[in-house]
Amino acid sequence: MYRDFAITEVAYLLHLRLVKTHNNISADYVCPFCGKKKLNVNLTNNKFRCAACGEYGNALTLYAKLNGLSNSEAYKKLKDEEEITSIGYITQSPQPVAEKKVYVPDTELRALLNAFGLSYAHRENLKSRGLSDSQIEKYNFKSLLLIGQSNILNGLRQKGIDIEKIPGVYKEFSSYKLNCSGKGILVPSYYDGKLRGVQIRLDKYSKRKYIWLSATAKGGVSSGSPVTYLKGTEKEKILFVTEGILKAIIFHELTGCSVVGVPGVDCQTELPKIFTETRCEYIANVFDMDYLTNPNVKKAENKLKNCAEKHNKKYIRLVWDKEYKGIDDYLSSSKDYVMNGLKCLKA
Ligand SMILES: [Zn+2]
Repeated sequence: MYRDFAITEVAYLLHLRLVKTHNNISADYVCPFCGKKKLNVNLTNNKFRCAACGEYGNALTLYAKLNGLSNSEAYKKLKDEEEITSIGYITQSPQPVAEKKVYVPDTELRALLNAFGLSYAHRENLKSRGLSDSQIEKYNFKSLLLIGQSNILNGLRQKGIDIEKIPGVYKEFSSYKLNCSGKGILVPSYYDGKLRGVQIRLDKYSKRKYIWLSATAKGGVSSGSPVTYLKGTEKEKILFVTEGILKAIIFHELTGCSVVGVPGVDCQTELPKIFTETRCEYIANVFDMDYLTNPNVKKAENKLKNCAEKHNKKYIRLVWDKEYKGIDDYLSSSKDYVMNGLKCLKA
């Protein structure tokens, strides 16, 4: 199915910025997932991979991932685009691309979250995962509404907020909009206290439950797919690594431990910096239990292990009843048991 559309055509449609071509066999673009200039697309097999953040896939999944669609929805949309052909050639010319400015949109994202409320259903959903009302307030979880977004954004502008710095905001004609495909819970991603991105946990989804608030595909700011890093006490010996932003928050709040939540098992570019800085002796892998059956997760685990060892950390893999896929599910069902286990581990 993905061979029906040339990946360079899809890249063009998505406004990806071309950096370099390699003899018309492959080309490097600015990665819409992490913002680095390392998204390599291969014209012969119609696939892509980012050497920086590890995102990979084909022409169809590239379009689907960036628009929060299932592959079949993406297929239908691309079929409707008359310009899209299956013959791959590079129509753009490479442009000099400035190094990505490192900017933390903490103030702007806080202002955006403050403009939304949290629905009863979403609050109950978060509570069912073990979070208390005060923890929900502390992280500023909100409900994304689809109506009235332009009003919210205009209101923020009038208050002097530079909304063009907010991942997910884009301009269409003269009005500002948020790029989102559905309603859901806004899940903030913090790095040592700073807000760097927001995910949407979609109420209705066909394939991807979590998508970033990001508007690369519409000429706005990319999410940059940031990791979540929540620190425990100074004396922590173990740094846990899990997959998922909400999962990391739940794990941190329920255990008090230091945790990193990577947005995808393969998105490990920020780990070397964190492993260099942390005083923790151990890196504990708490990726989902599907590592037993999913070869991609298994591969990512090896990458994590190598990275930990390269930074002189002792690596451990925690396992639990595989009926519970994520550590968060296991924690909310058997909290005392897990807490005892963690106590022994830390001793
Ligand atoms: Zn990338």
